[in-house]
Amino acid sequence: MSTCKKISRLLSDALDRPLQTGEWLEVHAHLPICRGCRGYKQQISVLRAAAQRVRGEEPETR
Ligand SMILES: [Zn+2]
Repeated sequence: MSTCKKISRLLSDALDRPLQTGEWLEVHAHLPICRGCRGYKQQISVLRAAAQRVRGEEPETR
């Protein structure tokens, strides 16, 4: 549970700053085994793309 909390925080941090290598490794180790966090990642990337469209920016591909 605390892992999911940390991962979801890292996913939203990633919108504002580059994640460190160790942080990415944690995220990428966790996402394949956790449906909830995959859904969260999907959700925030959709939100971010929508926000960028509103500002007239191209969605960033990652
Ligand atoms: Zn999780």
